[in-house]
Amino acid sequence: MNMNKAMELRPQLQSRHHLPFECLCSSYELEWLEEQGLIKRTSAIEKRANGYKCNRCGVSVRRQFALTPCEKCQKDCVYCRSCIMMGKVTACSSLYEWIGPQIEETCQVELTWQGELSNGQKRASKKLIESIKNNTDLLVWAVCGAGKTEVLFHGIEYALSRGMNVCIATPRTDVVLELEPRIRQVFKGLNIAVLYGGSPQRFQIAPLMIATTHQLIRYKNAFDVIIIDEVDAFPYSIDESLQFAVQKAIRKNGIKIYLSATPSKQMKSDVFRGQLEAVKIPLRFHQQPLPVPTFQWIGQWKKRLEKKQLPPTVVEWIEKHIKNRRRILLFVPSISIMKKTTNILRELHMNVEGVSADDKDRKQKVKQFREHGYDVLVTTTILERGVTIQNVQVGVLGAESTIFTESALVQIAGRAGRHPEYSQGDVLFFHFGLTRSMKQAKKHIVQMNHTALREFSEK
Ligand SMILES: [Zn+2]
Ligand SMILES: [Zn+2]
Repeated sequence: MNMNKAMELRPQLQSRHHLPFECLCSSYELEWLEEQGLIKRTSAIEKRANGYKCNRCGVSVRRQFALTPCEKCQKDCVYCRSCIMMGKVTACSSLYEWIGPQIEETCQVELTWQGELSNGQKRASKKLIESIKNNTDLLVWAVCGAGKTEVLFHGIEYALSRGMNVCIATPRTDVVLELEPRIRQVFKGLNIAVLYGGSPQRFQIAPLMIATTHQLIRYKNAFDVIIIDEVDAFPYSIDESLQFAVQKAIRKNGIKIYLSATPSKQMKSDVFRGQLEAVKIPLRFHQQPLPVPTFQWIGQWKKRLEKKQLPPTVVEWIEKHIKNRRRILLFVPSISIMKKTTNILRELHMNVEGVSADDKDRKQKVKQFREHGYDVLVTTTILERGVTIQNVQVGVLGAESTIFTESALVQIAGRAGRHPEYSQGDVLFFHFGLTRSMKQAKKHIVQMNHTALREFSEK
């Protein structure tokens, strides 16, 4: 090993804090790198007074550790079950971290984007640059359809031009794939790394990275700015090890930018107590208020469903919109209900299709729906985020179900009225008993509209 070889290996070394390095370098080479102060070694699993802690995923719950016959140390060795999907780490293995020179691509960034920002976007964009300047975390609380991606452009440009490393992390691969071409188009010629489970680029560093939150586990002290999209979305919000990964991947003076339409209770209370800076975009890009959901009681709809029937009000509502050439997105609580509902509507001679998470034709079906291939698309919560369809009306069958949380319902309602020409969507929650989540979702939307109105009249 020599310095040149080390520098050559650096992108790989820097992006695999999640793997023991033995597979990359010989033990002799590792020693050399350590002596040169280029890498730092920590044990993968730390023994503690009352158990273990995994230094890769941060887990310390007892049941996440088990014994395995180990080839390396020829003994029964403790390993971490929590992050096994990144390869097994045992108590006898080490994690290495690159502590040598960082990439110094003095980036010639040129933002080639020519679009206009709305007033709300402009304010958020300025605030974002300020946060980067002042080293403070920020929550961008933007309603569904506010255009949050555009808000990032100037901030990213600012950070990159100052030699910072930026990562956009999002919980879902779909979103990574959607973001990539948009970001590439506005930063032409910039070296961008894209990382998700099964992506062709594996070990890379670049000034700008777009990745799923899961992939952050590979990095340590790697980014100055981490933008976490849909911070409230599964699985980031429920998986503490992913929060640990974000914390680990960020540099000492790095900052986190959270993007959300429906921030968690914790986050809202942090904002309220002044512990987290926030900027709101209460108005959609097209400057029209959010459609407010209405509630419709439909009695014991599940019993009807068993008899292969839907409540008449639901069918009438769908028929009314189809007559007026409007499409319907109908959310239901489970896959089996999705299948039953789709069959009933089909027997009523409707042009209908159903989708769920385990449907491999999902993307194709959504595409066809968008191109007017169907009048009705029945879906589980899988389409609650990120889907934009022109002039779509939104119904929820069984809105009282616990799967429909406040944030899920706000996101679902946010599917309607996104297009400037069709900003007045109809959002109807069909239920068998009002829930707190339903009332709070409605309140959330009404309040955002109030905030928008107030800001509008202040101008
Ligand atoms: Zn672990
Ligand atoms: Zn071992």
